[in-house]
Amino acid sequence: MESSEVTVSSKQNLLLLLLTVAVTVLMVILLCVQDRIWWCKFGDYAIYINEAWNNSHTSQHLFDPYTFTHILHGVMFFWLAGVIFSRLKVNWQFFIAISAEAAWEVFENSNFIIEKYRKNTASVDYFGDSIFNSVGDLAACAVGFWIAFKLGWRRSLVFFFAVEIALLLWIRDSLVLNIVMLIFPLEAIKEWQMLA
Ligand SMILES: [Zn+2]
Repeated sequence: MESSEVTVSSKQNLLLLLLTVAVTVLMVILLCVQDRIWWCKFGDYAIYINEAWNNSHTSQHLFDPYTFTHILHGVMFFWLAGVIFSRLKVNWQFFIAISAEAAWEVFENSNFIIEKYRKNTASVDYFGDSIFNSVGDLAACAVGFWIAFKLGWRRSLVFFFAVEIALLLWIRDSLVLNIVMLIFPLEAIKEWQMLA
């Protein structure tokens, strides 16, 4: 009895792994169709870029300081999935979180949103994340979900705010600030960020 239960759960995990890979591949295809570039147009091969503001390499390599905001996406998705899909096992919740993040990456990098961003912010040379950057963001989200799962609810809340504060001190930007500035842009915050 026990061994057959083990087989069922390992079969389920294999299915989830395949589905996660499929979602990642689908994301890459959709980004490709939207003409996103694969890698930084400057052709430098650094895996990590330690720049956040006014830098053409940001969001073009696999990882940069914004990777940490995507780790926080994973933490938030862990909380949300725990509330909304509380009846599902955590591994299915993980799959839903990854699918949501992949969908977000495709939406964020659609030509429609990029054009909107260009018009609203006068950053004419903005042309979206590179495809590898989106893959890195997706991986960061997966890591964030796993960290939150390991830490549990209360300690993951501490982790969330620790990363937020570290990002504010480090690059004068963070996930919460991103959301605030998207909904309600404050001139004072913008000026403070420009000093980075
Ligand atoms: Zn570069």
